[in-house]
Amino acid sequence: MSDVLSTDIQFIKGVGPKLAQVLSKKGISTIEDALYFLPRTYEDRRRILKIRDIVPNQNATLLLTVFSQKEIRMGRKARLEVVAGDDTGRIQLSWFHAYPTLKEDFAVGNTVVVFGEVKVFRNSFTLSHPEYEKIQEFHEGKPKASIHFGRVVPVYSETEGLHQKTIRKMMGEVIKVSLNSLEDSLPENIRGKLELPTLRASFRAVHFPDECPNENEISKFLQRIIFEEFFVLQLGLGLKKQRQQLEQAPRLDSAHSKLTDFIRSLPFKLTGDQEKTLKEIEKDLCRNFSMSRLVQGDVGSGKTVVALASAVIAGGSGYQTAIMAPTELLAQQHFRTAQKLLEGTNLVPMLLTHSNAGVKEDRDSIREGKAHVIIGTHALFQKGVVFHRLGLVIVDEQHRFGVEQRNALIQKGEGVHLLMMTATPIPRTLAFTLYGDLDLSIIREKPANRIPIKTSILRERERPKLYSKIRERLQKGEQVYIIYPLIEASEKLDLKSATEMYETLKKEIFPTQSIALLHGKMKAEEKDKILMDFKNKVYDILVATTVIEVGIDVPNATLIAIEHPERLGLSQLHQLRGRVGRGSLHSECVLVADVYVTERLRIMERSEDGFEIAEEDLRLRGPGEFLGTRQSGLPGFRVGHILRDADLLSYARDEALQLLERDPNLSLPENKKVRSLVENRWKEKLERLKGG
Ligand code: ADP
Ligand code: MG
Repeated sequence: MSDVLSTDIQFIKGVGPKLAQVLSKKGISTIEDALYFLPRTYEDRRRILKIRDIVPNQNATLLLTVFSQKEIRMGRKARLEVVAGDDTGRIQLSWFHAYPTLKEDFAVGNTVVVFGEVKVFRNSFTLSHPEYEKIQEFHEGKPKASIHFGRVVPVYSETEGLHQKTIRKMMGEVIKVSLNSLEDSLPENIRGKLELPTLRASFRAVHFPDECPNENEISKFLQRIIFEEFFVLQLGLGLKKQRQQLEQAPRLDSAHSKLTDFIRSLPFKLTGDQEKTLKEIEKDLCRNFSMSRLVQGDVGSGKTVVALASAVIAGGSGYQTAIMAPTELLAQQHFRTAQKLLEGTNLVPMLLTHSNAGVKEDRDSIREGKAHVIIGTHALFQKGVVFHRLGLVIVDEQHRFGVEQRNALIQKGEGVHLLMMTATPIPRTLAFTLYGDLDLSIIREKPANRIPIKTSILRERERPKLYSKIRERLQKGEQVYIIYPLIEASEKLDLKSATEMYETLKKEIFPTQSIALLHGKMKAEEKDKILMDFKNKVYDILVATTVIEVGIDVPNATLIAIEHPERLGLSQLHQLRGRVGRGSLHSECVLVADVYVTERLRIMERSEDGFEIAEEDLRLRGPGEFLGTRQSGLPGFRVGHILRDADLLSYARDEALQLLERDPNLSLPENKKVRSLVENRWKEKLERLKGG
């Protein structure tokens, strides 16, 4: 960054330490920060209006001579009333406080430009608290234009102690001192191709435009600034991806593997998306550098079999695969699937959790390579676990693991391929920003045999209807989930209501049924036991908080009721709904909305497409909320908005990738500037973003 841009804002003319402190609350500490503090809107003050042309309740810029000034005492305070006018009429100006500079500026005979919304009061025009400027200099009989009038004027968001005119004046200075330091780092050909103006022209025009920008339009100038933000991030992610690709990994050979046999042996035909994803993985595995791929696929889209097929490729070349799942139950589930599906292969699956991580024979078979597909929990990366030849690491529900945990497992091999899986669909633009350094595969298509889940919204007063639905299910020997959302801030309260609900259901509503309660405060083993028992039909009803989200597959559970669905994000509701509809039985999801039904819930009735729901969720709640607290690391753009500016983001990504293809290290002279921009701006952020 140039010295000028990184200069402390307090050194700008008219700022000083006191104002600097106020500015810091707005996130402005340097000149560069100020440049990125963009106007909230603009006011067109180019035309000076005559009083006779005033339209009441509209903004007007007037050039006035002060006729009289009156102070009106009200207790200890004094109001100021001024009558002023031009050659066509008069207007009254008023202020609640008659402070001295005001009285001076509006002394009788002074010439002043005022700006504000004109009202009609008792048959005369009035302006209260207008913005104004005392005119001292004239040019050819007209007042000399300033930054406050006679032009399109920027309006910034104000805070206490920070007034419009102060900010505007400061911005005028900021632009003046920084323009020469604003060098264009965007390669000339990219700027030309997208017809983007220079950075210098853009900052000037965004703060002090010549024409009044259309409120509903992102101007070329703004686009230029946003594009750079996106472009720099995408380049950073691209560079990071390249670094990952320098990491060696074994070149696996899918031709010699039993992949075709394995696929043929499956009890079902792979969906088109499963096949496509597998092809992409296969291609990655057959190169001698490390795969870094994220598979996104809705709940039930069939990611497990893709994981196992990848393990078959690794196994065919004599390498072990580790599959890590966030809970013991999920690991067990995967293990059982693996036992079944790998039967016809010569690969030996093994389950490794905390229960057997200490067992010597088990550890020996991993170390000696007798076990080929090792499925487990966090136990997998414990110290005592040594692999024979680890070639592929698969992380299921990747967002449940930290980067360190993932890396700890990767360290168990000498250069491994990494495959991550997630059931949370992430809209494209967000995926670009979060996972731009990974290759993405998407399984959108569901297996053909899937029976749709019927979703309905019930009002609180229709609760009896829910209970009769539940009764019907139980009579058929099916099972039911009832979910109470848990929000971190009010965890205690929610826990209480989940517990209360559980008590009421047990004592009053379903006294003859067996009901269990599951919540996040329980120990992992306790939770696992309850879920296992539920799966084994020990319980008919499971009352749970949202801990159930990443849970067990219980095909016999056919109804899920979700209380207070308005408290949850759409994506989360969709995840919860995915707990049912896992077998051959018709399933349903009932949302018990509190008082009124919010429109946003209706999409749940309409759609079962996790990606569509995710898009809507992102649109409604914005990226921060969408990602929730668990997943941070979203780069904060100062101007760009990944939803509003999705097109620019796509362009930026394409251009960044193309540029890196032409000049992988950004070492050509014409790319030096952009390279240093990337290095400066994303130094820490890129570290933090590591792998998502
Ligand atoms: P998820 O993507 O949520 O991990 P799973 O891998 O658990 O999904 O698959 C859900 C169910 O769908 C499993 O019972 C699996 O056997 C089955 N399945 C997977 N692929 C297919 C397919 N192509 N056709 C039919 N059923 C499939
Ligand atoms: Mg899964």
